Amino acid sequence: MADKVITCKDCNTEFVFTENEQAFYKEKGFDNEPQRCHDCRRARKQQRNNNGGFGGGNNNRGYGSNNNRGYGNRW
Ligand SMILES: [Zn+2]
Repeated sequence: MADKVITCKDCNTEFVFTENEQAFYKEKGFDNEPQRCHDCRRARKQQRNNNGGFGGGNNNRGYGSNNNRGYGNRW
């Protein structure tokens, strides 16, 4: 595995999908590569939270929790 450069779908910025992140995705069972850069993803996540999508409580499908070991620590 090697780092991958992906172009963000939203802002067309190139970002690196690192080996570590790829491993993380694999471990989580995600087949898809991320399509958006970190900023856009964060923005979307925030938007979702603000949209009253709160209802389910704990349904952070393997992603959103704040303490997801070594993931969020650079962004
Ligand atoms: Zn972006």
